[in-house]
Amino acid sequence: MKRLTSGTNFVRYGLGEIEVIALRDGYIDMPASRLRQAGNQPFKDLHNQVELVGGKLRLSVNAFLIIDGDEHILIDTGASNSLGSTMGELLLAFEEAGVEREKISTIALTHTHEDHAHGLVAADGSDAFPKLQQLFVARAAIRLFDKIERVARFRQLRTSIDGGFKLSSSVTAVDAAGHEVGHTAYEVSSAGETLIIWGDIVHVQSIQFDRPELTWEYDADQDMARSSRLSMLRLATRPNVYVAGAHLASPGVGKISENGSSFSYIPL
Ligand SMILES: [Zn+2]
Repeated sequence: MKRLTSGTNFVRYGLGEIEVIALRDGYIDMPASRLRQAGNQPFKDLHNQVELVGGKLRLSVNAFLIIDGDEHILIDTGASNSLGSTMGELLLAFEEAGVEREKISTIALTHTHEDHAHGLVAADGSDAFPKLQQLFVARAAIRLFDKIERVARFRQLRTSIDGGFKLSSSVTAVDAAGHEVGHTAYEVSSAGETLIIWGDIVHVQSIQFDRPELTWEYDADQDMARSSRLSMLRLATRPNVYVAGAHLASPGVGKISENGSSFSYIPL
């Protein structure tokens, strides 16, 4: 996988014979107490080991576009204007990358949280992707999706999927539940190279690679989130495998290596 071009809010990569664009939606600052240690208690050693900005955890918010020939598949949509003014740059990122929003006919969600699903609706209330034809949502997450008033108009486009479902010849859904019910990663493969677009497997990159047992307060099932993180990290240590994370520092793409019971992340 290699970087081809970049701008303020995007980086375009070559992956085998296809392209992937990391799109920056912005960032969100979260209370440091969101990071959890065993027993679902706030992580105590925070101030020595974790990078903070103004006392808070700064999480990038990224989405990823897979371009395979004429096929454009967008994974997640950012927060649009639903979570504050530090997010909502996704459509600007599309413009900077020179990709028309009208090209997007397929979107797949990693899960249904605001910073992943609410960008289906632009800040002015219009459809962010006016030519959208299908929206893939994990079967287990359909009930959560259908509760989101903001995206009610997209219920008719949604198709439920399970782990193993092939979205296209290069993209396969991988079950990664734990952070949320139905949380799903997407494995993109081309000509011997693989990218795992893993949603919220890691929230705090300054510590969760080194200490993958640490969880996030919003993980719906802390134990399952921990074991999904470990299995994804192990998958990602294979040769020619890269990861793309919704909350890894923008552009959020890199390589994983394993050192005993901990891991390292090397941004690409
Ligand atoms: Zn998230």
